Amino acid sequence: MESKKFETEAIRTQMERSQFLEHSVPLYLTSSFVFEDAEDMRASFAEEKDRNIYSRYANPNSSEFIEKVCKMESAENGFAFASGMAAVYSTFAALLESGDHIVSSRSIFGSTHSLFSQYFPKWNISTSYFDVHKLESVEEIITPKTKILYAESPTNPGVDLLDLEALGKIAKKHGLIFIVDNCFASPYLQQPIKFGADLVIHSGTKLMDGQGRVLAGITVGSNELVDKIYRFSRITGPALSPFNAWILSKSLETLAIRVDRHCENALKLATYLENHERVAWVKYPFLKSHPQYEIAKRQMKAGGCVVAFELKGGLDAGRKFFDSIKLLSLSANLGDSRSIVTHPASTTHSKLTKEERASVGITDGMVRISVGLEHIDDIIADIGQALG
Ligand SMILES: *Cc1c(COP(=O)(O)O)cnc(C)c1O
Repeated sequence: MESKKFETEAIRTQMERSQFLEHSVPLYLTSSFVFEDAEDMRASFAEEKDRNIYSRYANPNSSEFIEKVCKMESAENGFAFASGMAAVYSTFAALLESGDHIVSSRSIFGSTHSLFSQYFPKWNISTSYFDVHKLESVEEIITPKTKILYAESPTNPGVDLLDLEALGKIAKKHGLIFIVDNCFASPYLQQPIKFGADLVIHSGTKLMDGQGRVLAGITVGSNELVDKIYRFSRITGPALSPFNAWILSKSLETLAIRVDRHCENALKLATYLENHERVAWVKYPFLKSHPQYEIAKRQMKAGGCVVAFELKGGLDAGRKFFDSIKLLSLSANLGDSRSIVTHPASTTHSKLTKEERASVGITDGMVRISVGLEHIDDIIADIGQALG
């Protein structure tokens, strides 16, 4: 079938209608599926037939969600998980053997970092990190045991960018599986497979749901790699629930229009902050002052929902700013319709030393805002009064 534009696929990719001819896709809350007879059941278990058997393996609602994300990311196949972290863990666990080595960006999601540093060493899987500002050092840490190259762009919470095309070339040259966590950009703004990624991971909890309701994760990529992840996952059981899959698939219908507004609001807020006397610096991918503005323009359609800035006055100024916020939420999530403010140094990254924080771009007065869908005038008014 001829492929259509992003927005059309997001709305019109839909599972087959039932005998009731419903317009909007129903929810298939069922743990298992029935067979016609002994031969049907035998053939289904022998994988001679592609059909639903048990919702730990596949369910119509999850399959629809996966098909949509595959179209968005230009991927062949995928598997949907109960959370973003289940997707990250299962993807690595399915592909790696004892003795294997990961080369990863240092600026990655906190729980992913803990997985690499605290748990994978138990199975003799080691990780070396490269600095997001020194991509030329990536090749120096690749060893004969390296199997995966891993990155996130834009990074959290530093809002730095990694040149995905350059990383894709390095992965290809060394025969590595290149995996990108594309959660911050969403498939609407950036499609890593076009730059050489083999697998793309998302936490569906963020912009994909977009309304802070459900946890979800997904990994998409080539048939060959996804088949390994599917086989591991159907045994270990991290599958997404049909209810959450149904929510997610509905949410994807409005992904483009929502993310457009997130980005429009975020750019306006970033521009406002850039001209504010209490602000030392602002980082947003589509601000011309962003050090990697050229990379952003090349690989992203717009800048995303996250803006980072530095308050003059460090930690104390940060706390005072937080206590003065009235409308926006103080919460750890992002990509929600409600704008969210976080202070990484005193919360999500407080366990790191000051030097460790600095190495991933976090300073004491740094504030991260996930810009939501409220009217931009009200978002700016709240931040303005808190800065004053
Ligand atoms: C939130 C997040 C995750 C983890 O997703 P959960 O759904 O919370 O498990 C992974 N990567 C990134 C970049 C995230 O922001």
